Amino acid sequence: MIIAIDGPAGAGKSTISNEIARRQGFQLVDTGAMYRTVAFEAARRDVDLGDADAVAKVARSLDFEFRFEEGENVTYCDGRPLRQEIRTAQVSHDASIVSAHPKVRDVLVELQQQVGRERDSVLEGRDIGTVVFPDADVKLYITASAKVRAQRRVEQMRDQGLEADFDEVYNEIVDRDRRDSERDVAPLRQAEDAVRIDTSEMDIDEVLARVEELVAQYS
Ligand code: C5P
Repeated sequence: MIIAIDGPAGAGKSTISNEIARRQGFQLVDTGAMYRTVAFEAARRDVDLGDADAVAKVARSLDFEFRFEEGENVTYCDGRPLRQEIRTAQVSHDASIVSAHPKVRDVLVELQQQVGRERDSVLEGRDIGTVVFPDADVKLYITASAKVRAQRRVEQMRDQGLEADFDEVYNEIVDRDRRDSERDVAPLRQAEDAVRIDTSEMDIDEVLARVEELVAQYS
């Protein structure tokens, strides 16, 4: 079974995908983490992020694994767990640059299809229901207004003891939405047959209850 969860940055996709994967005992494939790692590794290896061939070569060199350990979904790359180093504002920005290269997407989409076919999976990203698994059993498009998404991100950063400026975070979100939606290849958009859930005025338990209801209809 494949559950496809797409939507813009900060709509609550990750929290929901993690929890649904945990409750169903499914593998979680965090495709954003894959684009982030390619961006992170390309920068670390001094590769020009605008050079599609060179970045695709970096993507092909990486070995991803999706594990569930100690109650948590963890993405591994080349045997190492990926954590906060791929969650910085710089990596978010760079990921949306490298993800616009069709050659890079080809490499990662093929990998995502391979791992998704091996086990029941939740795949989380921008193009799962439109490109990676257009025949997914359950397709969700999780969204929220840019203001609400920015506010949630600010609160999350402050909870982590980080300084956060609302306007800066808001502008980053709007910029990233624009890059992800306007690119030529696999732009962020809702699949026609996806169920849209706007979380602007919902709390996480309400969203989870709605998603579980949808998943139960298909299992
Ligand atoms: O979901 P996350 O914020 O971790 O994704 C980081 C970036 O990776 C996105 O802004 C987008 O540019 C890219 N991405 C993508 N396709 C996916 C998942 C992520 O283009 N399926």
